Amino acid sequence: MAKQNPIKKVLLVFLPSESGVDGAQSLYDEKEVPPMRRWVNRQFSTIIKKSQFAIPPLSLMILSSIEVSQVEQSICDLRFEEFPMHQKWDLVGISVQTGLAKKAFALADHLRSKGMPVALGGAHVTLFPEACRPHADVLVMGEADDLWKTVLTDLVTGTLQPQYESNTFPDLNCARPVSKAALIKSRYFTTNLIQTGRGCQYRCDFCNVHLLNGHTLRKRSINHLVSEVARFQQGDKRIFFFVDDSINADPAYALELFTKLIPLNIRWFGQATTTLGQQPELLQAFADSGCQALLVGIESIEAKSRTAHKKNQNKAGELVNAITSIREAGISLYGSFIYGLDGDTLQTPAAILDFIKETRLDVPGINILRPTPGTQVFERLREEGRLLFDPNDTTAYRYSFGQEMLYKPKNIPLDAFIESYAALTREVFNVKNAVIRGFGAPRAKSAVMLFNLFYTYLYSLSRHDLQQQQEKPLI
Ligand code: SF4
Repeated sequence: MAKQNPIKKVLLVFLPSESGVDGAQSLYDEKEVPPMRRWVNRQFSTIIKKSQFAIPPLSLMILSSIEVSQVEQSICDLRFEEFPMHQKWDLVGISVQTGLAKKAFALADHLRSKGMPVALGGAHVTLFPEACRPHADVLVMGEADDLWKTVLTDLVTGTLQPQYESNTFPDLNCARPVSKAALIKSRYFTTNLIQTGRGCQYRCDFCNVHLLNGHTLRKRSINHLVSEVARFQQGDKRIFFFVDDSINADPAYALELFTKLIPLNIRWFGQATTTLGQQPELLQAFADSGCQALLVGIESIEAKSRTAHKKNQNKAGELVNAITSIREAGISLYGSFIYGLDGDTLQTPAAILDFIKETRLDVPGINILRPTPGTQVFERLREEGRLLFDPNDTTAYRYSFGQEMLYKPKNIPLDAFIESYAALTREVFNVKNAVIRGFGAPRAKSAVMLFNLFYTYLYSLSRHDLQQQQEKPLI
């Protein structure tokens, strides 16, 4: 009998979405698209895939950093490579996001049919374990930082369990050094991804962060973070990306952290709430520590929509001044809107246009509401009979970049809504505006211009697909 290899080989798989920075493609019947347009779409999709927008999957970086004797972990990023079928894997871990669940299940089923054991984890598994169970040998529910070590240890001892779940969130304050050893650095825009904490004290009804990561903000030790930034900087001099949803959620903590980072002389991007514009000392610390650009979730400038969706952390009337202050501090802003919320009307697009002009937002992102299964808004829309796909099929609500309507807006007939959304994105995104915004941005001018050009293409795809969807009998 052949001697068994004592090393257990584990592969962590990241699935690309079909839309957005992972490479946009039409979701609706490419066959009906004229050949020339199909060719152009494919070229753009390839350029987007190969462009430097991609960042590594942080959750898999964290899991691959967990060391267990006799286990070797690798990351397979399917945005850049095929699944390595020719090798034998003792366990394949797949991170399942709800918008990509169908794709994840298809891959898991295929691997299991070839005799490879599959562990599924991630948001969809935590929210819908029963829907995931038929596709997995092992389910990992909740934040996996501690659980994954147990899974790997059980793999070595041959005692893998069908399910791993913890009743508490992992303690982020203890030292958990993140390693980049499993990454191919040249693939990514940057490998300098930092997460300072998890959880959110707010409860916006379209968001699942507070459901998955808890209603209180759990923070990592500032000393650990400063060491991590210094260590990451050694191997990659590129920009840092603080992935937290609201990096200013705890202003005192953020002030201490970014003041301590000033001597490291980094450049960074992050995500914040517009409240930052009313926090002058913190805003200065952000600028002094190298903040180039921030994504802010404006979501809605309609007070009724903010109330309807529990987006209460900043007031619509304070947004303009806050955004102006942040840009005057020399930080470029990506402002993300959602059109189609329950207080929106056909007058909302004009108000969004005025707002973009007045604030001179550097990159506007104009999304349509995407009710994700598991969120409060999904359940409300189900009760109100406004969902356009089977509410019991959690895999039907796929991720797309404004390419598919998943629900009926409250105050606007569906056809009129799609027309008004198309007119809005046509007005906001074009080559001329991309150049103006790029030159006018306080910092990161070329990134701002590139993003606007990129969105000019993505939103044209959105208009095309929404029109295709409208012509289907479903609507
Ligand atoms: S949208 Fe942002 S602020 Fe609202 S619950 Fe989600 S993470 Fe928190």
